[in-house]
Amino acid sequence: MSAACLGIVSAIAQEQQGLLENLRQPRCVRHGSRDYTLGTLWGSDVVLVLCGIGKVAAAATTTSLIVEFGCDALLFTGVAGGLGDGVAVGDLVIADSLLQHDLDARPLYPQYEVPDTGKSRFAADAARTHALHSAALTVFGAGCPPLIDAATQQSFGLHAPRVHRGLIVSGDQFISTRTASDALRLCLPDALAVEMEGAAVAQVCHDYGTPFALARTISDRADDTAHIDFGRFIHSVASVYSLALLQALLMPKS
Ligand code: SAH
Repeated sequence: MSAACLGIVSAIAQEQQGLLENLRQPRCVRHGSRDYTLGTLWGSDVVLVLCGIGKVAAAATTTSLIVEFGCDALLFTGVAGGLGDGVAVGDLVIADSLLQHDLDARPLYPQYEVPDTGKSRFAADAARTHALHSAALTVFGAGCPPLIDAATQQSFGLHAPRVHRGLIVSGDQFISTRTASDALRLCLPDALAVEMEGAAVAQVCHDYGTPFALARTISDRADDTAHIDFGRFIHSVASVYSLALLQALLMPKS
């Protein structure tokens, strides 16, 4: 992904840690109750930030990256609940488009439509999403060595990760019952994953004409088992995956 200044948004601190450790000439700026760390990551100028959980936090952070820090492209990594058939814990989902599943201004506007935009699905940037997908395949494709040890894999019941690409839906709810995830699957049968920030990032990027791409590691199946040991999964699986993915994407090829 080439950009004059790339904003990299993480949802959770442990995910950002590996990026901070690789950042050259870090400089931290506090703005709107968040720490933005500017520097160079594998030769690219970047701004790293932790956005916090939920759509408002994500929208505020995205706006600051674009307006205050001059980012001209954004990349988001985090975890999500799997909804689509065959989207398993430990898989990767790359967003083609994003939708707010909890936005409903009926009867004034169709369900999910962002008022006065005529849109409910906001597309990720095609070229950057393609680059992210290609990077994912170089790290997680068939025949790639596993990034985590067998004991960790076994403790989370993981198989070799698969890379999916399609619709991700976002809302201000942690989806943790089978009833709630079935309801989402019924209304949005093509949704691959559910999380709490991506569609807000997509809407703000759309407003500013800023290209973005988004990848999520599946941490749960958005059902009654979704309360799994989140911290441990993020530390031992998701943060390892997102660091490897960003490295494959940004590190100049030799
Ligand atoms: N930080 C908390 C839990 C994270 S809340 C803890 O450590 O226990 C959930 C975060 O992961 C949000 O940022 C959301 O985007 C994503 N997420 C993962 N699974 C989700 C699900 N089933 N429903 C909604 N969001 C989910």
